[in-house]
Amino acid sequence: MHGNEPCGADAIRQLAEDFRSGDLTPAGGTVFLIHANPEATAQGRRHTRGGADLNRLWDFSFVDELRESAWGYEHHRVLDLKETLGNFDAFLDLHSATAPTPPFGVSNGESPIDEIAKRIGISYLVQSWYGLADKVIIGFLKLSGVPALSVECGAHDDPEISRKAYEIAKSFLRATGAIEGGVDLADNEVRTVHVVERITKPSNQFGFGSAWKGFQELEPGALVGRDRVTEIRVSRRCYAVLPNERVDVGDDVIYLAVDAE
Ligand SMILES: [Zn+2]
Repeated sequence: MHGNEPCGADAIRQLAEDFRSGDLTPAGGTVFLIHANPEATAQGRRHTRGGADLNRLWDFSFVDELRESAWGYEHHRVLDLKETLGNFDAFLDLHSATAPTPPFGVSNGESPIDEIAKRIGISYLVQSWYGLADKVIIGFLKLSGVPALSVECGAHDDPEISRKAYEIAKSFLRATGAIEGGVDLADNEVRTVHVVERITKPSNQFGFGSAWKGFQELEPGALVGRDRVTEIRVSRRCYAVLPNERVDVGDDVIYLAVDAE
């Protein structure tokens, strides 16, 4: 999905090799291994030059709002992918993050995705994400009733990131009954949360109050970040999710999550 996050492409390459060599045995159904954004991977960028974030186009509003001559690679690609994504029984989307983070999933709430998510080795499960639901691929799949999960496997620069993505993908195939054998990771504790705030970068002077890590706990009053005129603090205990100072002004700089009741 994002070209600067090659762990997903690495994971499906390894899974394809495992099927070819017989290391993995199909148990039922059909497995689709899709490299969503090969052009951005070739460029090593989140999205292609002149393109757009492929995981923010799934409401297809650009079709009415942007003349076709201004579309980039991802605008065409998302329409192609839309045709491919039909009646899947379950769907997994793999990502990595700028800051270190424990592996976490984002569910689209379609049963039985939350039960599957708890068996793939993640630490947190986001059950709703304020402000993003209709723009991301799992939101689009919700409209057609496909149980879908996006997983952030860890940091881009973690030397183990591709192995982690591979293990998560393999556990997902096992949990859905698509492959035989292996160890079930049912025993790790998964905390369920809701993302309740989305903070955009107010200016180029904005900086974090601390070098936040993913799912770091913020106490009430903690300084999220500031620029010359704005200071953003939290009013209740929450978690930092996907902190990234190095985004453009107006883009999402951090999300805040709270425990599900
Ligand atoms: Zn991503």
